[in-house]
Amino acid sequence: MYSNISAAAPVFRCPVCEEPLVREDRSFGCVNAHRYDVAREGYVNLLLAQHRHSKDPGYSKEMIAGRRDFFDAGHYQKLADGVADVITSYLPEGPALVADAGCGEGYYLRRLRNTLAGLGREDDVLLCGMDISKHGVRVAAKRDPQGLYAVAGTYRMPVMSNRVDVMLTHFSPVSAADFRRTVKPGGTVLVGGPAEGHLYAFKELLYDTPAKHEPFDRLAGEAGFELTGTHSIRYPLSLRGPGQVANLLLMTPFYWSVGDETRARLAAMDQLDTEVDVIVHAYRRTADALAEDAPEAEPEDNGDARSSEDW
Ligand SMILES: [Zn+2]
Repeated sequence: MYSNISAAAPVFRCPVCEEPLVREDRSFGCVNAHRYDVAREGYVNLLLAQHRHSKDPGYSKEMIAGRRDFFDAGHYQKLADGVADVITSYLPEGPALVADAGCGEGYYLRRLRNTLAGLGREDDVLLCGMDISKHGVRVAAKRDPQGLYAVAGTYRMPVMSNRVDVMLTHFSPVSAADFRRTVKPGGTVLVGGPAEGHLYAFKELLYDTPAKHEPFDRLAGEAGFELTGTHSIRYPLSLRGPGQVANLLLMTPFYWSVGDETRARLAAMDQLDTEVDVIVHAYRRTADALAEDAPEAEPEDNGDARSSEDW
């Protein structure tokens, strides 16, 4: 059982002293007696106060509720199942750990669990999700009691070194240094992001002349990573019914930049035909890079908005 795997080899490390965190009933603890309580929903908060950019960083409770409704309507199921197929194609034989850096409300990991069950692998693959939004992690943990969930930034990840077999970063900021440290040599980092046509008709609602996405390849050229594959997931997306178009805004970083007028306009819409067009770059973590290097400085604009770059 995966629970034995996790007991034998800790996944998380202490954000204060970097020693392994061992689960003891309702808390995680390290040898230096730093303790982190497991919340009622089953997650642990490993985000230290000094690493928070605000009192309540990341997605707000309201944003998570809208995103959850959008996911529950199934609009991104083909996308998530496509990502799950890519993940399973890079899994090693036997026990493995998949981590989602920036898991939000955990939808991609839950679809992955469904795919793993179909392959008869649900017991030997441990799923771990981290996000800076405690509202997201709360939903994720509640809906996936078998998974391991933590409130944590994707920079200075509280994960043991050389521990992860497949790391997913989907529409999230990328920390090459953290991935280099946490992913096993020979393991895989999957970087999902928008391809050229992603949500283009939706962007036309927001901007007079929206830009097409540039190809998205943010680990390119980073030491310790070798590109081993690119995977395209593309399908038409039809939104029908009140609230769906407004909820789509919550799935994008445009949420942070549009004004009230645009929000009101989207809230009044009840249909939209656009396209999901996502590319996943797969990188193999090569053995030659140093396992430990200095943590990367977090981009100034990254912390609370999670993903503020244009896509
Ligand atoms: Zn400690």
